[in-house]
Amino acid sequence: MRRSRLAEHPNDEALLAYLDGELSTVQTRTIRIHIKTCWKCRATVAQLEWQAETIARLLSTQLDSDIDRSTKAKERFLPGETLLKCA
Ligand SMILES: [Zn+2]
Repeated sequence: MRRSRLAEHPNDEALLAYLDGELSTVQTRTIRIHIKTCWKCRATVAQLEWQAETIARLLSTQLDSDIDRSTKAKERFLPGETLLKCA
């Protein structure tokens, strides 16, 4: 016996759109109700959320290390300048 398509598991794409708030009100409600009753999709949503957080953290870490690198480059340059002035 087959119920409506909406009773089936939403795919990753739909769950991602749900997380991003890109779905219509009806779609969001449908997925929210489904997730409440489906541990499998709840786990998928948790994993997608974790992935998004990890990527965001990785991106900000990369930015931090870029700043760090330019500071270090400046530090390396400054002693040379001092040396030139002394000579
Ligand atoms: Zn499901």
